[in-house]
Amino acid sequence: MQAFAFEPCELPPGADALRAEVRAFLDAEASDILVPARARSWVGFDADFSRKLGQRGWLGMTWPAPYGAGRSALERYVVIEELLAAGAPVAAHWIAERQSGPLILRFGTDEQRETLLPGIAAGESYFCIGMSEPDSGSDLASIRSKAEPAEVNGEKGWIVDGRKVWTTYAQHSHYMIALLRTGEAGENRHGGTTQFIIDLASPGVTVQPIRNMIGDAEFNEVTFDDVFVPDTMLVGEEGTGWRQVTAELAFERSGPDRFLSAFALLKELVRVAGEAPTDMAASAIGRLYAHLSTLRAMSLSVAAQLDAGAEPALEAAFVKDLGVMFEQSVPEIAHQVIGASPRIDHGGDFEKTLAYVQQACVSFSLRGGTTEIMRGVIARGLGLR
Ligand SMILES: Cc1cc2nc3c(=O)[nH]c(=O)nc-3n(C[C@H](O)[C@H](O)[C@H](O)COP(=O)(O)OP(=O)(O)OC[C@H]3O[C@@H](n4cnc5c(N)ncnc54)[C@H](O)[C@@H]3O)c2cc1C
Repeated sequence: MQAFAFEPCELPPGADALRAEVRAFLDAEASDILVPARARSWVGFDADFSRKLGQRGWLGMTWPAPYGAGRSALERYVVIEELLAAGAPVAAHWIAERQSGPLILRFGTDEQRETLLPGIAAGESYFCIGMSEPDSGSDLASIRSKAEPAEVNGEKGWIVDGRKVWTTYAQHSHYMIALLRTGEAGENRHGGTTQFIIDLASPGVTVQPIRNMIGDAEFNEVTFDDVFVPDTMLVGEEGTGWRQVTAELAFERSGPDRFLSAFALLKELVRVAGEAPTDMAASAIGRLYAHLSTLRAMSLSVAAQLDAGAEPALEAAFVKDLGVMFEQSVPEIAHQVIGASPRIDHGGDFEKTLAYVQQACVSFSLRGGTTEIMRGVIARGLGLR
């Protein structure tokens, strides 16, 4: 049976100086964000803020020249954890910088890199992920949206038809990286899919926002009706979509975003518990802090392995699973300790933050792969299935 590899990791020299630089930037640019809005960091959409991060060189910072500064994954880790711990609005550039850019860098053509990566690194070009469909979520191999070869006005390409759903921020995005059926699935069901970069301004694309139970419209349904996509927008090779999607999902499974989604509430809990907390509050906060520190150490270890060129898919899935359990426990514990009633639109900062995290946290175990799917990945990685 394979074992987990979580070697302790030291941050590189210069990390403290970088952290101080990011904190000074946040003091200048994000100090006026209201506490409940800080809980929405991942979904806080602020184009100006993303552009400013791009100007500082903090987007695509690990990418090699000429697209980025070739800094280490651990330096990027420092930037991301500071942004999320401060509850900064990162949604505008989030998917593009975290998933789409690395995917294009690894599997894209030189032309795609040259035309698309500079906009992402500048915080000006936004992407969304087109994987899920009305009848395909965990079982991505069952997608039905399709691309068929075509030639339109002398240009070779593909005609796309179908529907994607739960597409985060498609309404603001310039491009979607869509997984589409281009051939038969084959015996292992993983063949016949291809990734395409789709310009969402193309004729035949309809983006319909879906309101979630909190009342926010982050999700969308995106319909493709005979949409022409040029050959130059195919990512990687025809039929290799499954392998690429698996790699893409691994980029997002173990970062600080997997245990900091409830951090604004944790900070509120500490504030409300005060300088002389009750025994119950002190022990609950101590426990949460111990879990948070352990998760951070494990997550940093995965980042160090990624930096060294390893593929720690098993460890990344484990961090996501434990991180989700931690994040989902925070509202319940905060509620028990403080006893205030959650109120999404009135009351104090604690009540509003509690109400938001309590409702949002049910989705934490779905996004990026459900708990059951993560545990399947872990069991397979350990050789148990
Ligand atoms: C906040 C958020 C943002 C999202 N953003 C995007 C996005 O931008 N783009 C995108 O494409 N998708 C997005 N999604 C969709 C997300 O990827 C899917 O919700 C997820 O993959 C699960 O698919 P599903 O909802 O169809 O549930 P299903 O796959 O139908 O699963 C339903 C339940 O069955 C369980 N289950 C399914 N298969 C198995 C199995 N083999 N073994 C054991 N249990 C199983 C699941 O764990 C789950 O509990 C987002 C979702 C959320 C919550």
